[in-house]
Amino acid sequence: MDLTILNNITYGMYVISTKDKNNNVGCIINTVTQITSENPIIAISLNKDNYTHKVLKETKKCCISILSEKANKELIGRFGYFSSKDIDKFKETIYEEINNMPVVKEGSCAYIIGDVIDIINVKTHDIFLIRVKKLEQLTNDIPMTYKYYHEILKGKSPEKAPTYIREEDNTLKQEGNKYKCIICGYIYDDDKEEIKFEDLPDDWKCPLCGVGKDQFIKL
Ligand code: FE
Repeated sequence: MDLTILNNITYGMYVISTKDKNNNVGCIINTVTQITSENPIIAISLNKDNYTHKVLKETKKCCISILSEKANKELIGRFGYFSSKDIDKFKETIYEEINNMPVVKEGSCAYIIGDVIDIINVKTHDIFLIRVKKLEQLTNDIPMTYKYYHEILKGKSPEKAPTYIREEDNTLKQEGNKYKCIICGYIYDDDKEEIKFEDLPDDWKCPLCGVGKDQFIKL
């Protein structure tokens, strides 16, 4: 079965955020779908190992910020490849508390705040059905698609994303000297770069998630 065919399904780039007692938490997701138009309900998918998943199951309230093509890689790296359990992702992020939710405004063209009305168990993930309570358009910038993130920003899916396996299949088909970031999956390909990985300076950082060369493995 060629799972890369599923890459024909289009996705966006979103930050889902919520808060536990003391901390704002959030992560990147790419599966957000509008289910109904009247009294609108949207569906999102979250991996069960995700800290944001755990908190959302308790709070049953969240914000979804729709990232635009102007969102930078640092923001996506911070929310995509680290756990809110380990770092405060909001510390260096422009956000605003609205309806008691931490709304990420940085790089976002719009946001949606809503309440969880149902949860559907699908083994590794849960699908949350969310009733929309508040919406706001922030800019007229173009919403970022997953394809844009992948092809223009050279982004990769973190392991917990529903799209992860499909990219791994592609990686295994590649040949030559390649180095992979163990945090975010970014591939440094000697054949496509002017400087060989081994010759990069010691302070070089992963362009996607910001970790050093020591976090790369040779494929
Ligand atoms: Fe990285």
